[in-house]
This record gives sequence, structure tokens and C-alpha cells, in this order.
Amino acid sequence: MADIIQLLPDHVANQIAAGEVVQRPASVVKELLENAIDAGATTIKLIIKDAGKTLIQVIDDGKGMSVTDARLSFERHATSKIRTADDLFQLNTKGFRGEALASIAAIAHVELKTKQAHDDVGTAIIIEGSQVTSQDVVVTPKGTSVSVKNLFFNIPARRNFLKSNAVELRHIIDEFHRVALAHPNLSFAMYNNGSETFNLPISNYRQRIVNIFGNKTNEKLVPVEEETEVLKISGFVGKPEFAKKTRGEQYFFVNNRFIKSAYLNHAIASAFEGLLKSGMHPSYFLNLKVNPETIDINIHPTKTEIKFDDEHTLYALLRSAVKHSLGQFNIAPVLDFDKDPSLDTPYNFEKKVTNTPVIEVDKNFNPFKNDVKPSGKQSPAFKSTVSNWDSLYVGLESKSNDSQQDFSEVHFESEETTGSIFTNEKETEQVNTTYQLHNKYIVSTIKSGMLVIDQHRAHQRILYEKFLKNMTIKEAVSQQLLFPLQLHFSVQEIQILNQLKEDLEHTGFVFSKVLKESVEITGVPISVPESEVSIILEQLISDVENEVPDAHFSATDLLAKSMAKSLAIKTGQALKKDEQEHLVNKLFACKEPNVSPTNKATFITMSVDEIDKKFI
Ligand code: ADP
Ligand code: MG
Repeated sequence: MADIIQLLPDHVANQIAAGEVVQRPASVVKELLENAIDAGATTIKLIIKDAGKTLIQVIDDGKGMSVTDARLSFERHATSKIRTADDLFQLNTKGFRGEALASIAAIAHVELKTKQAHDDVGTAIIIEGSQVTSQDVVVTPKGTSVSVKNLFFNIPARRNFLKSNAVELRHIIDEFHRVALAHPNLSFAMYNNGSETFNLPISNYRQRIVNIFGNKTNEKLVPVEEETEVLKISGFVGKPEFAKKTRGEQYFFVNNRFIKSAYLNHAIASAFEGLLKSGMHPSYFLNLKVNPETIDINIHPTKTEIKFDDEHTLYALLRSAVKHSLGQFNIAPVLDFDKDPSLDTPYNFEKKVTNTPVIEVDKNFNPFKNDVKPSGKQSPAFKSTVSNWDSLYVGLESKSNDSQQDFSEVHFESEETTGSIFTNEKETEQVNTTYQLHNKYIVSTIKSGMLVIDQHRAHQRILYEKFLKNMTIKEAVSQQLLFPLQLHFSVQEIQILNQLKEDLEHTGFVFSKVLKESVEITGVPISVPESEVSIILEQLISDVENEVPDAHFSATDLLAKSMAKSLAIKTGQALKKDEQEHLVNKLFACKEPNVSPTNKATFITMSVDEIDKKFI
């Protein structure tokens, strides 16, 4: 039989490798920015058109390449950064695989211009789908410019898989932030569709963070510094009161490389223990410097994961450094009486008045006199319970008839027993009575058995459908604020708000001004309390930023979901009887009552059969 194994041609192998390296325009941005940094650039420009679908260009003033290197840089496994496997353990550069340019050139139209300082002229190469189409001598400044056009032009499936421009641009900005935060000693600029989105001069770390996330960030930052033999930690954590509902601003850099580590994240979260309301996440911008020999970055192709030799020590050091800073800057309570009591109380319990349950007993009621006319003092609930009442005494009938003479004795007994029996009666008397369990679930009876409703999810569903309706019919009612509300956001957050502005207005928001880093609001939807506005918008922005993967992106839908999530009754909130019933009724009036807007069950049922089985 003939041999069937063949070596793949280079361009095919490159395309396959590209699948791993380049998932979306943002991956190209990351690779090109990192190459510029590795080339020793001090000024780096990123130019984007159509969220990178049309153009991604990075221009640097780094060391440039010779003619031969320029040509070689597009070969797979061609790198100037390591020579032997041993070098892998001494990595001081971002790149080392020599895969990025080859991969990008396999799936896009790439134009490279590069010149070294000592040369008079530079080299220009055009390469399309791994084929070099031209190579020229050009006049170009020192450094390198790489333009990537028509990404995925030869892989339509990939191109179609790209998300909306808004989403892809956000991913690009995320990568840009990560790189810019890791290198405050370099200057970065980003242009999107011809206008400047970021201009970050060389600065200290605090200034870099503020330049990216807006002026309001400055007051939030608490410095963290720690130096030991194995590790140097520097950077900032956000004060607890600025914690976010989502993990937006969490940045770890190890030797200037952005990494994700659930383990180290946990170390920080635990340093914040007791300082954050549940469900809130601290912001942090932390740089760890470790000996490159003690880490292995080679375990993930996109290189945001990392393996440390001694994770446990790192965890402990990080946790104590953060704890120490929070204590030192008087953020964490040092003495008990300094403690702000509001930190301990989940906010939905604050200012909550607890009512003692009232048990009403009608002392004049005589259960043995069926023909008794309701007196004025009798509570209305009793009226209809009279007939049910008999059944409780089935089997006792003869006895009670007998003792009817001895009224005083019976009366005394019945006062006690009827007290408790009647309060039960009062509840079961309505067909669909409700009961709140652990301030979390609403239990109700249905024909076949029992219904347990998750109050938070149910309310989300109700609000979600209401907001969607308001937005589509565009006739939400707005409530005018007495004083305009000023809210501060970062440039990026304002960008997102701008995209959502129209939809927000359909829910009842009125924006009087949208500035570079703030908005002014003069009206809010009728159901939204003024105090919640900033939380809602913040939640909304981070929801948009972290848009659930593979969910169909629709701003309206996301907005409705996000607002429903922010405004829905929380777990832990006590509900009055009528509120409970209202919630149940509203839920079942919904189009899709059985799932929350994020597709989680809003209620479960348990049939009498199932309950019966439990008693066997
Ligand atoms: P890696 O970065 O892993 O080495 P790349 O494919 O990203 O692989 O780049 C290949 C080589 O091209 C690099 O090792 C470097 O020598 C050269 N190179 C890439 N971009 C630049 C740049 N902006 N300036 C100078 N040299 C570059
Ligand atoms: Mg590289």
C-alpha cells in the first residue's frame, strides 16, 4: 500500500498555526505591540480602522531590521529572541516563538517597512497569504511599521465569526491597556478611525493608570510595595469603596507581561476579606518581578497563563503585602471601634425596619357556634374560615356536642388552641398563599403541589420584559431630577455609553451633556431611584465590556438585562405578603416566566407525588 503521510506545505502549516495565535484583531494588536517593545521602541503608535477588520498598524521607533531579517521575520519559528532551549528560562522578551508574523502573514495582507538606525534606506515587503508579492528599498524613518489589512481574507468562516465592531474594538482597547499599563516608561498613542483615542506620554505608574482610566481613578489608588529575595511587588490596589461588581480593572503583570491567575487573584481577594460587600471585586494594578528562571510562560499559546515554581510563597507574600497596604493607609480597620459598621451590613439590610409578626386572635369567636354572626371586631379572614374549621374537629364532634354545656371550660381551651390554629387557617385560606423562605425564595402552592420561586431571578425576568417593551415601543416614562446628576467615567466607558445612549434614552434616561470623562443626567426611568443610577450605568458598562461570549450581541437586549439585574429585588430582601403575591402574579404574566434573562431557572416545582415519596 502506498504511503499516505505528507508534510504540509508551509502556507498551510502557517494557516493552522495562525488559528492558535490569531483569534481576532486584538490578537494581532497584542503581537505587534509586543514586537515593538521587544525592539526597544520608546514611542509606539497603534492605528485601527473598522475595529481592526480593515487595518491594524503599529509604528515603532525601535531598532528596525536588516533586509535579510525583514524577509526572515515572516518565516515560521524565525526569531531573534532565543537561540537555544536554555534561553527559554532566561526570557526577558515578550516574543520567543517566532510564530506571530508568519501566522499573521498567512491570513492577511501585510505591509512591513523597517529601517535600522545606521542605514540610509529601509526595506518594504508586501506579503499576502504567506506569498511575498513585493520587496523594495524605501525611505522610511528608523524603526518598524507593520500594517495588517483584511484580516482573515482567506478564511471566510473566521471573518464571519468576528463580533460587531464595538465588541472587537473593546478587545483591542483591552490589549492596548494591558501593554500600556505594563510599560509606563514608553509612550503610546492609539488612533481609531482617524481620531485619537489615547495619548499616553511617558510617566510614572500612577499617572499611567490615571491617563487610561480617568482622573477620578487617582483618589482610589492605594500603593502596594514589597520586596523580598524571591519577589518584588509594586503597584496599586483600589480602595474597597471603589470595588466593582465585575472584575473589570484587575491587572497582574509578571515581569511586565500581563497574566491571568485565579490563584493570585484569590490572594488579593482574601486580603480584602471583610472589607468588601459580597459580590464586589477589588481593582488592582500589580507588577510582580521574579527571577525569569522561576517561571514558565510556555504553557499557553496566547501566553496569559504562567506557571510559578513556588506559588504558595507567592500567594502568601502577595496577600500580606496587600493587607499591609490597606492597613497602613487606614483602609482596613485597625481598631474595632474605628470600624465602619456599614461595611459589615449587606447594603440591602441597611435601614431596614424589622416588623414583629402580629398574630390576631378573636377572643369572642366561638368555634362551636356555627351560626354565630361575625361581630364588628372580627377580622375579615375569619368569615370564610368558619366552614373549614369544622373539619378540624371531625371525629371529635360527639365530644364537643356533649361538652357544650360546660362552656367556660371549653372556652378556655379553645382560646389557646384556636389562637394558633386560626393563624394557620388565615394563611391557607387563600388559594395561592405565599411564604418567603430565607428572604430568598417564595414558596407557593399550586394544584399539583408546591412552587419555589427565586425572588431575584423572577424579578429580573419581570423587569427585563418591561424594559425591553419600553425600549422597543420607545415610550418609557422619565422622571425629571431636581438637580442634574454628574457622573464620572473613563474615556473608554464614555465611548460605551455613547453607543448605548439612544437605547438608554428609550428607557427614560435623559442625558444633558456627554463630555470626555463625565456625563450629566437630568432624567431617569421612573422605576430607577436616583441613588442607583451610577451603579446601574457602571454595571451596564462592565456587562457590555464582558459581553457573554456567544450570546447574540444586541445593545437593547444587553441593556434590558443589565438594568433588570441591577434593579431586581436582591436575595436577602424581606418581602411583604402582598409584594410576594404581586411578584408571583407578575412573573406568570411574563412571556417566558420559567427562566431569568440569563437563562437560569426562576422557579422549581415539587409535586405532591414527589413529596409523598420523600415520606416513604
Ligand atoms: P517572536 O516575537 O516570537 O520572535 P515574531 O514572529 O513576532 O516572533 O517576530 C519574528 C522576528 O521579527 C522577531 O524575533 C524580531 O527579530 C523581528 N521583528 C518583529 N517585529 C519587529 C519590530 N517591530 N522591530 C524589529 N524587529 C522585529
Ligand atoms: Mg513577536
